[in-house]
Amino acid sequence: MSRPFDLPIRADLVGISSYGAPQLDVAARLNVNENPFPLPDDLAAAMGAAVAAAAVGLNRYPDRDATRLRQALADYIADETGVRVPVDCVWAANGSNEVMHHVFLAFGGPGRLAITFDPTYSMYPEYARDTFTDYEAYPRTADFGIDVAAAIELILRRRPTLVLLTSPNNPTGTALPQDDIRTIAHAAREVGSMVVVDEAYAEFRHHGVPSACALLEEFPNLIVTRTMSKAFALAGARLGYALAADPRVVDAFMVVRLPYHLSAVTQAVAITALRHSGVLQAQVALLRDERDALAAWLIDSGFTVAPSDANFILFGVFEDRDAIWRALLDRGVLVRQTGPHGWLRVTVGTPAENDMFRQALVEATSADDEEGRT
Ligand SMILES: *Cc1c(COP(=O)(O)O)cnc(C)c1O
Repeated sequence: MSRPFDLPIRADLVGISSYGAPQLDVAARLNVNENPFPLPDDLAAAMGAAVAAAAVGLNRYPDRDATRLRQALADYIADETGVRVPVDCVWAANGSNEVMHHVFLAFGGPGRLAITFDPTYSMYPEYARDTFTDYEAYPRTADFGIDVAAAIELILRRRPTLVLLTSPNNPTGTALPQDDIRTIAHAAREVGSMVVVDEAYAEFRHHGVPSACALLEEFPNLIVTRTMSKAFALAGARLGYALAADPRVVDAFMVVRLPYHLSAVTQAVAITALRHSGVLQAQVALLRDERDALAAWLIDSGFTVAPSDANFILFGVFEDRDAIWRALLDRGVLVRQTGPHGWLRVTVGTPAENDMFRQALVEATSADDEEGRT
């Protein structure tokens, strides 16, 4: 038998285990904000054909700069936001998680600071740790917005190189007012800081809520990140992207990305999905309506609800949210324990899944629940 060997793992990683939301095979999986609808058959078939065509050329490395895909993303953004971003200001990678990793590699690093506002996306501190970037999270207001005056004071005093704003925010669903983003971006520019607006859920925003893409022309220090994981029902394909104000941002990403980071298969699948964005937008419209109906029902039922511009709802407030979470799971409904103490987050599912959730929640919270949960 070989002698025990102490792996020379980085000291700051020792004892840290990887974390991810449970992937359980239950009737209603409403815990990771996926689009609940399988891809339509004709779109899946078109993707299959595109992958078959790409397969013949897999002996070669993919287009390193993903030019056709970035052009298709620029066209989509022009359509979705009315803002035309030049293709040399568009970046694509394996999920917006990888885009954010590139952001930290290019603009973070030892001795540099990234700040954000909690509660927010739980992955940001991990990108900071992996890139040796200092990270500070400041509290959001009681209604999950940002105290802009305090944020400006903070930016001028702490001089971060990265300010992360998530809008609509995860896990609260809160969209930031455009003026708040503008004011924060202005202060950040004064101290030479980049502002990243994470718009993973942008397509679910209510009508009339603008995208931060509209501010790209005004602020050279602005980056907007998006993903095809949510609205495009493509979480399994891994495609995220960024829109930058300055092409030098994309040049910097090209320096830090791994060689040929985006496979030809991924590029083919994403281009095909963008060509079919019309059918997917119909699903998004349905999910928005379901979200608003679910939020109204939760409020009518006496729960507290954070107003959501995303495809999920943060609701509560429970004395023992773990007991409610478990009682829902016992009834085949998986939601997420996240956000401030006592809140739960539910992803908007299909109409049938949302019905299941409603019924399960009524049972889980009724005083005469047979297991005595309240
Ligand atoms: C889901 C999510 C993402 C998207 O991640 P992908 O890597 O693109 O799947 C990014 N930011 C936030 C806040 C999210 O909730």
